[in-house]
Amino acid sequence: MNLAQAGTESNPYLQMQRRLDKAAELLDLDKGLYAILSEPAQELTVAIPVQMDDSTLRVFTGYRVQHSIARGPAKGGIRYAPDVHLDEVRALAAWMTWKCAVVNVPFGGGKGGIICDPRRLSNGELERLTRRYTASLLDIIGPERDVPAPDMNTNEQVMAWFMDTYSMHMRATQTAIVTGKPVGLGGSKGRREATGLGVAISAREALRHVGLPATGCSVVVQGCGNVGGLGAQFLQEMGHKIVAISDIYGAAYNDNGLDMPAVLAFLAEHRSLEAFPGAERIDNSELLQLPCDVLVPAAIENQIHSANADSIQAKVIVEGANGPTTADADRILENKGVFVVPDILANAGGVTVSYFEWVQDRMGYFWEKDDVFDRMERIMVEAFAAVTAAAQHHQSSARIGAYTVAVERVAYCLQMRGIYA
Ligand code: NAD
Repeated sequence: MNLAQAGTESNPYLQMQRRLDKAAELLDLDKGLYAILSEPAQELTVAIPVQMDDSTLRVFTGYRVQHSIARGPAKGGIRYAPDVHLDEVRALAAWMTWKCAVVNVPFGGGKGGIICDPRRLSNGELERLTRRYTASLLDIIGPERDVPAPDMNTNEQVMAWFMDTYSMHMRATQTAIVTGKPVGLGGSKGRREATGLGVAISAREALRHVGLPATGCSVVVQGCGNVGGLGAQFLQEMGHKIVAISDIYGAAYNDNGLDMPAVLAFLAEHRSLEAFPGAERIDNSELLQLPCDVLVPAAIENQIHSANADSIQAKVIVEGANGPTTADADRILENKGVFVVPDILANAGGVTVSYFEWVQDRMGYFWEKDDVFDRMERIMVEAFAAVTAAAQHHQSSARIGAYTVAVERVAYCLQMRGIYA
């Protein structure tokens, strides 16, 4: 499903709101604090004129939403895609607020996006688009205000242009303005693998929590990108069997297990898994319904919804993507006894290491990869324990448990800071 389709089930902001409402009810949250948390704190829509390579002028639309700065600077990625929508950016910004609070890093939540098809833009056009967008945001961003990062279709190069544009305006190099930069330019070692490793750690904790074995489980992964591909590789290294993995075109399936290094090498060379040898070809909807111990949706939003949740056969779902499960599907999965590690916990390894990158940039002192991974693992394990304890306390799903942990922490900061009038 996508936003263009009718109905509220596909609107990520309304989906986020339903989970917030439930958590607020369980916490008996003050109505005024609820009103603050239900709306983004600030939204900016900008028109971005770009001189194209053929000398014509095009105007793109860009957004930056800051959902909350109660716990620290807004933090969240920038997405370039043709179907970027303001409600999607609002939802992603709010999820960042909750995610940063679940792992207890001192950030609020933000997100940005530009409506464009980056595959149809030259490198020069992408650079001019990024620089002008950055310039349009100057009044609201900064290492202490709002710290962007990459998201779908943006990468280290885009972050380097963003950082350079900001730095030129500030008349000084300001590496802490974005995270996800190249390691040679103030990036953190381990950031590339962080989200996938965090997903694998979350899966490990979830298997222990539900009493499944620590090795030898069957795993199905939707999405073979930064999160899904690397997450699957880490899960294989932990001794699990990856029986299927997909990209946007379809999935490779082998009941005896796929060799992840070979899958990733094949994908890097051919840009599609279509002809991956020794595997059966199935489509993305069949993939989600395969019998398995662990399902990792790591592609896009709204993949598990009211029409297919009942056919899910996994015992545990670990949400690598943001918003892969709708609120209607939550209820169906809960009734079936499927244990879901929610996105705001499962994929928080990425923002945790982004926080480390920001700390390292501000110190000007850089850590070794093992140090980064050890610190991240400690935070993920602690967050998993806090979420499952909250779920038990409220007799709720782990998702609602995670929302209660997050909402309580953000509400505490709002309350202590008070309202400046
Ligand atoms: P990516 O672009 O590296 O990989 C995305 C994968 O999903 C690719 O294999 C792509 O082919 C597949 N895909 C895309 N559209 C699809 C569709 N319609 N159906 C099936 N498969 C599709 O992206 P990523 O960085 O791995 O991010 C994946 C998800 O994880 C997104 O929801 C993102 O917001 C979220 N996330 C990413 C990070 C991070 O650090 N990269 C952190 C937290 C959350």
